[in-house]
Amino acid sequence: MKKLVTLFAFLLMATSAFAQDEFAFERFQFHADLNYDSGITSPAEYLGYELGKEYTFHHKVMDYFKKLDEESDKLTLHKYATTYEGRDLYYAVISSEENQGNIDAIRQANLSLANNPESTTIDDKPVVVWMSYNVHGNEPSSSEAAMQTAYRLVAGADQETVNWLDNAVVVIDPMMNPDGRDRYVYWYKSSRANILNTDANDLEHDEIWPGGRTNHYWFDLNRDWVWLVHPESQGRIAAYQEWMPQVHMDFHEQGFNNNYFAMPGTTPRNLELPADYDKWADAFGRGLIEEFDEANVNYATREAFDFFYPGYGSSYPSVMGGIGMLAEQGGHSRGGRAVETDDEYVLTLRQRVFDHYTNGVSIVKTAAENKEGLLSYFKNSVSQSSQKGNTKAYILPNDENDYTYQVVNMLMKHGVKVERATQNFTQRDSYNYWDGNSTNQSFEAGDFIIKTDQPKHLFINTLFRKQMEIEDSVMYDMSTWSVPLAYNLNASWTTRGVNASTEMVTEEVEYKSGLENSGAQYAYVIDWEQRHAPKALAKLWDMGYKVRSARRHFNNGEKTYSEGSLIVLIGRNFDKRDQIAADMQMLANEANVVVEGFDSGRMNTGMDLASSDSQPVDKPNVALMIDSPFSSYTAGQLWFLFDQWTELGISRIRSGSFSSSDLEDYDVILMPGSWGGLSGVWNESEIESL
Ligand SMILES: [Zn+2]
Repeated sequence: MKKLVTLFAFLLMATSAFAQDEFAFERFQFHADLNYDSGITSPAEYLGYELGKEYTFHHKVMDYFKKLDEESDKLTLHKYATTYEGRDLYYAVISSEENQGNIDAIRQANLSLANNPESTTIDDKPVVVWMSYNVHGNEPSSSEAAMQTAYRLVAGADQETVNWLDNAVVVIDPMMNPDGRDRYVYWYKSSRANILNTDANDLEHDEIWPGGRTNHYWFDLNRDWVWLVHPESQGRIAAYQEWMPQVHMDFHEQGFNNNYFAMPGTTPRNLELPADYDKWADAFGRGLIEEFDEANVNYATREAFDFFYPGYGSSYPSVMGGIGMLAEQGGHSRGGRAVETDDEYVLTLRQRVFDHYTNGVSIVKTAAENKEGLLSYFKNSVSQSSQKGNTKAYILPNDENDYTYQVVNMLMKHGVKVERATQNFTQRDSYNYWDGNSTNQSFEAGDFIIKTDQPKHLFINTLFRKQMEIEDSVMYDMSTWSVPLAYNLNASWTTRGVNASTEMVTEEVEYKSGLENSGAQYAYVIDWEQRHAPKALAKLWDMGYKVRSARRHFNNGEKTYSEGSLIVLIGRNFDKRDQIAADMQMLANEANVVVEGFDSGRMNTGMDLASSDSQPVDKPNVALMIDSPFSSYTAGQLWFLFDQWTELGISRIRSGSFSSSDLEDYDVILMPGSWGGLSGVWNESEIESL
């Protein structure tokens, strides 16, 4: 009867967006007929509104998970990072009370399968399922769905849910990008009208630059899974490596006119992966589709999204040996609380939450019901038997000035074993990345060796292959990344085993730093070849030093210094002569560089330290153009480079304020790539006056 009345009410008000939104709450229920443990608070009870009525701020989502942690022995919450804006990131571990009593042993057993697959049996281990939500902050339905999914797993008293938690450990990362997500939610709340407006052109559906997709520095965290530039990624991967899940789902949203994207994806595929990856991706997709068919939710499979590039949340888990997957709900930043699609369907936030909730539950179900198959897929994919190609090792010559150390440290964060030669050696069948020719190459003690006979071979080969095999060239976006080429390293790969004696690298490799010849009487020099020399320059300016830069190289009888090397003449900084040694020590520590004291300015070869080729360099005033139509990604990268890596303060100027700014104040103006060229920013006479 209730249904009839509702339907009648709905028909009466069918033209009203409000009515359609209300009806969505009736239509899209979160398994309301199940038995739930009354001692566990539901999201609606905790928040004071039904999911789908509002967007929930980061702190409230986290508070809800903390509440679940308090109320239930099935869930524990763990902090793994803090964002630039000071928001804490957490993941929840959900399993049966019995498994939770034993959770560290379960985790260790899973790790031993990941690290020693050939000598570890599957036995009756639970399958580890990891679900990640809202990496793109303006794809906001998923964090709402994460709360309901966690509630269902923790409070569901039905036999099916109980069985799942006996057979699975479910890790939920409810919000991977809180800075971007809260940016979106603040904007949305400040733009929303009292009267629901489903017109996609309305303000509340038209987000402002730079949008909530990215993190504080406008980086796409869903391209950072491998490179680990940001604290969100660094903390997540540290936690991920402690768990090494067999299954991973990354929840996203796409344009509101698109129906739900369900697995599997499209080509090109990463052909390094075992062939069975496709079978499993399809099984998870079909598990969801069964639910969607029943609920009349529309979807599409095998379209648009490929998982070729390894730095997505949908692909990284696969090169770590598991089944990496993607979900894309229609909605995105224009979704609001409800939006009308091109074919006049009213897509509600309630439905978007429902769809992702349904998928989350379906993944746990499919994983728990297939745990033996998934564990044996995982065991196989991290075993040597699944390795393709004949590369035995990748060799990175020790170079303390380029990106080699950064790459080595990045690899170790992903659990890759890196060795270091303890003797000089010659390697046959060794191919240099830059010419590809096979030769006998000489390497030295201290060079880094990454062998492929280790469980992370899928990850290593995918990252290091100079050329990946590819079925077709239509990409979602990222198509090239070969690490030695991307980082400009003089590296090689070899198809023969490396016989040199080696030692394991067990700690992060550190760039050399420190002050040599403290108390020097003439000058201090910082070789420009050093990775962090630009940061040292910014700090010297900051400390008020007059700095020169070498236009020619010079040699003091011990070493040749490169062009660009920084020279601090004591005679030109005479007021600081009493503190300069202490300042240079601090500089060496803070900028992570070697600073060398010189007692004389007379060089053996090349220029003298105070030569006219030793040119004063003054701190430039730098402006960076931001806002529409400039690319927020490029603007963000430049801002990050100056703000974090170089620590040189710059002014970020909105395109709309530019013509009223006094350009004479700036020595350098950086213009990131833009959509539509500069004519989108200035008129012709303004461009002329530049
Ligand atoms: Zn996304």
